[in-house]
Amino acid sequence: MSPSRLAIHGGTPVRSSYLPYGKQVIDEEDIASVVKVLRSDFLTSGPAIERFESEIAKFTGAKYAVTFSSGTAALHGACYAAGIGEGDEVITTPMTFAASANCVLYQGGKPVFADIDPLTYNLDPARIKENITDRTKAIIPVHFTGQPAELDEIIQIARENNLIVIEDAAHALGAKYRNKSIGSIGDMTMFSFHPVKHITTGEGGMITTNNPLYYEKLLQFRTHGITRDQSRLRGNHGPWYYEMQFLGFNYRITDIQTSLGASQLSKIGSFIEKRKQLAEWYTQKLSPIEEILLPHQRSYVDSSWHLFIIRLQLSKLTAGRKEIFQALQKENIGVNVHYIPVYLHPYYESLGFQKGICPVAESCYEEFITLPLFAGMDHRDVMDVVEAVKKVISHYSNK
Ligand SMILES: *Cc1c(COP(=O)(O)O)cnc(C)c1O
Repeated sequence: MSPSRLAIHGGTPVRSSYLPYGKQVIDEEDIASVVKVLRSDFLTSGPAIERFESEIAKFTGAKYAVTFSSGTAALHGACYAAGIGEGDEVITTPMTFAASANCVLYQGGKPVFADIDPLTYNLDPARIKENITDRTKAIIPVHFTGQPAELDEIIQIARENNLIVIEDAAHALGAKYRNKSIGSIGDMTMFSFHPVKHITTGEGGMITTNNPLYYEKLLQFRTHGITRDQSRLRGNHGPWYYEMQFLGFNYRITDIQTSLGASQLSKIGSFIEKRKQLAEWYTQKLSPIEEILLPHQRSYVDSSWHLFIIRLQLSKLTAGRKEIFQALQKENIGVNVHYIPVYLHPYYESLGFQKGICPVAESCYEEFITLPLFAGMDHRDVMDVVEAVKKVISHYSNK
């Protein structure tokens, strides 16, 4: 029996244990910080929340930061603060998690999908321009895999057309665009603290902004539309008095979560360094393989490397993405696919979206495989993934 027989055909897998594609890194310091909150007076809406917010503001260079119970809730808040309403159009990318577009629907708006650049997989500014109408109100670029989108062009398009830029930076905490930190550039920027992202609070999200009006709206939206701010109350019945002034939600995060977030944030530098090192190893070892394309990086951006995606060159292979994906899984490599173009989901289909809107994104979807990447991986893990990719790709190569 050949030693390179694929596990999917009964051979020995490259790894004896399964390597997930992403996973949190939690240490004793993180655990102690949560326990401390559990022993304190506040489990929710206490001092840990403001501390985490001010630390994220400092880290990103933004004036204000508002936590939410998830990145999705944060995006909803941003669409509210931006004034997205019935019939308003918002341009975004289809190559993202559904939440980047769902937030527009929550507000009664209409997501409009513009195609991506075939090199960076980020929104293509030329395709954004083509999709602007007199109903367009905002652009939601996603910094896909942690590589910042073309912000200079996007912001210029926004200025010329009076649009608001809401960055979905769920992948991009710690990334830089022309030496500026993501979170300090657009009108509002969303971060997610789901466990697969750079730092975690379990569930959790944040909006950063430099705009005091957005800041006030976000705070109020997060807590039912209620304010206790004396200067903004319309009446005043007494010292207990507060007002619900619009329909908001309970989108608050807890002190338990934000104490974990602050502890995690203190390690962000080493987390990102580690991700960069892993990506560099992947790039070195995988670049000789002709049947795949590696992530292309713009010279003027600094990616935070949330995902490492290889793109199959199907003309050089005898099998499609599905077979190759399944073969890698059987080698115990936790590959994934990011993303199913949003408008191909049945719900979006039911709204009238059809296949063919964004051909570049659709063909990328057929060719993408996400390799494992998280700060807890080591050199051996990378070598296992590289060995599995070589084993599987050489089996299906048509050379
Ligand atoms: C994770 C993610 C979100 C949603 O964040 P949650 O915290 O899971 O709600 C939105 N957009 C992108 C691109 C994401 O990766």
